[in-house]
Amino acid sequence: MDPDLKRRLKATPALPSLPPAAVRILDIARSNEPQPRELYEAIQLDPALSARLLRASNSPAFRRVGEVRSLREAQMVLGYDATLTLSLSFCLFTTIRRLEAGRLDYEHFWRRSACVASVAALIAKSRGLAGAEAMLAGLLKDIGVLVLDSITPADHPGWTSDEQAAAQLAAEVGAWLINEWRLPDYLASVSWATRDLDRRLPHIPDEDQALVEVVGVADELVGIWLADDTGGQLDNSRDLVARRWAWSPEQLYQLITEADEAIKGNLALLDLSQFDEQIMVGVMDQAREVLLFQNLSQFKTTHEANSQADALRERARQLEESSLRDELTGVWNRRKLFSFLEVTLEDARTAGTPVTVAFADLDRFKPVNDDYGHAAGDVVLNHFAQKLSRLVRGDDLVARYGGEEFAIVMPNTGGETAKTALTRVLKQAAETRYAVREGKSLQVTASIGMRSVDPRSEPEVSARELLAEADEAAYHAKAIGRAALVASDPDGLRVVHRLGQPSVMGRLGQTLVSAFRRR
Ligand code: GH3
Ligand code: MG
Ligand code: MG
Repeated sequence: MDPDLKRRLKATPALPSLPPAAVRILDIARSNEPQPRELYEAIQLDPALSARLLRASNSPAFRRVGEVRSLREAQMVLGYDATLTLSLSFCLFTTIRRLEAGRLDYEHFWRRSACVASVAALIAKSRGLAGAEAMLAGLLKDIGVLVLDSITPADHPGWTSDEQAAAQLAAEVGAWLINEWRLPDYLASVSWATRDLDRRLPHIPDEDQALVEVVGVADELVGIWLADDTGGQLDNSRDLVARRWAWSPEQLYQLITEADEAIKGNLALLDLSQFDEQIMVGVMDQAREVLLFQNLSQFKTTHEANSQADALRERARQLEESSLRDELTGVWNRRKLFSFLEVTLEDARTAGTPVTVAFADLDRFKPVNDDYGHAAGDVVLNHFAQKLSRLVRGDDLVARYGGEEFAIVMPNTGGETAKTALTRVLKQAAETRYAVREGKSLQVTASIGMRSVDPRSEPEVSARELLAEADEAAYHAKAIGRAALVASDPDGLRVVHRLGQPSVMGRLGQTLVSAFRRR
């Protein structure tokens, strides 16, 4: 430092001397051994200091349980180191507040110091460093600016108009004063390094670097937050903490919202509450807004993820279902038929409810293809399948077994109910007209066989057996002249219903089938 300036500084009457309490506390601070009793006595010398420590121990940052009423309790609650450092903060802050204002906006200066100190303490705590030390460093960091200001008369043109040079000088003056007061070295390092952190940090003793960095970042953050441009505040501070410590934006927003409370508390502790209003309101509101918005968007993201999962599940379900559907008619295929029948039988066994399986084969279908073409045959098959689906109940399953053969599974349906239902199917399917070409429609009948089972009396019967017996009954219906419903009962095949009069051939067929029953 310029020797001339040093001389001036030493000689200046404006530079306040330390109060007796501060001097003793400083002595205690320099000692390597903790001296709680001496500290207690030194604090007692200064009633205002005692009151502040009591307030500090009852503040949200330190409070544990219950109200702290005595200085001794306060010392216990705060712990030795924090009591010491906070005492120093309060003493030194009171002292530097006595500096007379030159051209500096003191309100802004104090407010800023309190903010930096509060934010530094918060960050320090989150990084496992001593919060009270960071706070003290934050408070004393710009002491050089104050000193320079107070020894520069209001009408003086100033030491320099170059802002950077002025800041540099202030940093040096601050470091000098801290040394003069024989304060711990890290405080001088903070004062010297914070304005040029990237370049100066490596020159600071290793053990002090972390704390100096914390105060430097707190200073930069507060600078950003107090800036007028509301737009870049969050972006800039996010960049800063991400670059320094790879913080996530959430960590920053958390800090900002905590800083709000900490600053208010410290302003009160430092008797600065008159500056309480409107401090960093902008950036805190923004941080709160972002946090709220983030919670909402997190909610939205989970909601989106859920509906995406729903969509995937639905797609999988569709794929699964389409693999079980018959391509031509859209009714279920054989694979589904068997699995459904197995499950239905299992349920029926458990519940003791009957099941009916029916087999429907279109009558004389080959001639339809032959006369009107395969495409017309397809149309008939398709429409027949739709008709069949509409004629059965919702719980029933219609499947295309192959070619012009369809199977129907009717859960919870006994023989008598099935006979009534399938007779209706037989009749209505036969009444349906299928358009096979322009101006030409035709009707087709089906031969239907059915087999009902009561799993309580036939627990062993399998899905395949039931289908085979329904098929056999359908074969019987063909044999007796087609367009008929035949039931395979435990006591044999029984014709349930026949459409029209049986032909001679049909009657002969019936006789033959009865004679050569396949079971
Ligand atoms: P029946 O009364 O004895 O059942 O006579 P049918 O002609 O219906 O029986 P058959 O088993 O002799 O012939 C079945 C015909 O069904 C053969 C084939 O032309 C037709 N067919 C099978 N699958 C399809 C298909 O997917 N599309 C079309 N258009 N026709 C089919
Ligand atoms: Mg057939
Ligand atoms: Mg057929």
